[in-house]
Amino acid sequence: MPPFFESLRQLGPWLADRGEPPFRAAQIRRWLLERQADDWGSMTDLPSQLRDALADAFPLWTTRTIRRATADDGTEKLLLGLADSRSIESVLIRGSKESKEKTDSSAVPKATCTFCISTQVGCGMGCRFCASGLDGLERNLTTGEIVEQILKLQQLLGGNERLAHLVLMGIGEPLANLDAILPALKWIRNILSARRITLSTVGLPTAMDRLARECPDYRLAISLHAPNDRLRNELVPVNAKVGGLPKILAAADRYFAASGRRLTFEYVLLGGVNDLPEHAKQLARLLAGRTAFVNVIPYNPVAGLPFQQPTAKSQKTFRRILEESNIQVRFRLRKGDQIHAACGQLRQDARHA
Ligand code: SAH
Repeated sequence: MPPFFESLRQLGPWLADRGEPPFRAAQIRRWLLERQADDWGSMTDLPSQLRDALADAFPLWTTRTIRRATADDGTEKLLLGLADSRSIESVLIRGSKESKEKTDSSAVPKATCTFCISTQVGCGMGCRFCASGLDGLERNLTTGEIVEQILKLQQLLGGNERLAHLVLMGIGEPLANLDAILPALKWIRNILSARRITLSTVGLPTAMDRLARECPDYRLAISLHAPNDRLRNELVPVNAKVGGLPKILAAADRYFAASGRRLTFEYVLLGGVNDLPEHAKQLARLLAGRTAFVNVIPYNPVAGLPFQQPTAKSQKTFRRILEESNIQVRFRLRKGDQIHAACGQLRQDARHA
């Protein structure tokens, strides 16, 4: 039998073959998704013979935690070892923007958390300012490896915390690995609605169209980083190969038409490179009329790369120009940079260990 999370559809037929009642599958799902079970033996409301048989049939975990780092702001980063000795990183971000939100089922408000997970080992997109792609793509993650990251992060939650957002913004390009990602996300939707799941992409039009066709329920964030093709070709080398900004924005518009969900455009501000007033003006013109907002991420320094952080003044001007053009804008807080868990920094430790 393959490891359990690799083939989530194998459980139903296996239970049926053994003559187990259908509700067993839901019991097991609850243990794994909601009760943070770490092994089959701890699922105490299953008959012990069944627990033993499950343990014989299905190895549960293929990943193991190699290292766990915590920053002062509560952000935690897991370095997970994979079965083939490669490694990836996954991040738990505490206190997302809705921390005062109340859950329906409980009188006590739970603090909300965001999980940021990886989708590939390395990355083939080659964005010049990002640590994840420095060594290129090693391989896609499997469905099981994607699910396991989420469950391992969930095991870090305290009793007064809950998963509120899942973002595919760790290492890798999610839209280059949809075959593995879509089944994993479908399973996770048992505990988290699709509108709380964000796929972040460098902008791959063919895959964006596939997502629009097969599952337009997720939020889509498009990493733009430049308001014109000349600059974008330099910063995001895959840009030219996929037909540049016109093709990407057209695919984004089709996704919006299919999903009705506001699009997010991400923009890493690199000091002196893409943070000038003329860039903000061009960006405002590019996005005018779209139901979208811009998530500006001040560059997080990556060891060995030649980029500078934007000055406070350039950030302020950039923001003002977008706001005056009626573009909705949000500046992303730097969380976890102390432990190299901030955007674009993942794998930095592993590479420089
Ligand atoms: N491949 C996907 C998802 C992973 S990157 C994508 O490109 O969207 C997640 C976000 O972090 C992207 O917007 C990416 O451009 C940004 N990022 C990468 N390196 C960064 C850095 N050094 N500082 C700040 N943000 C960075």
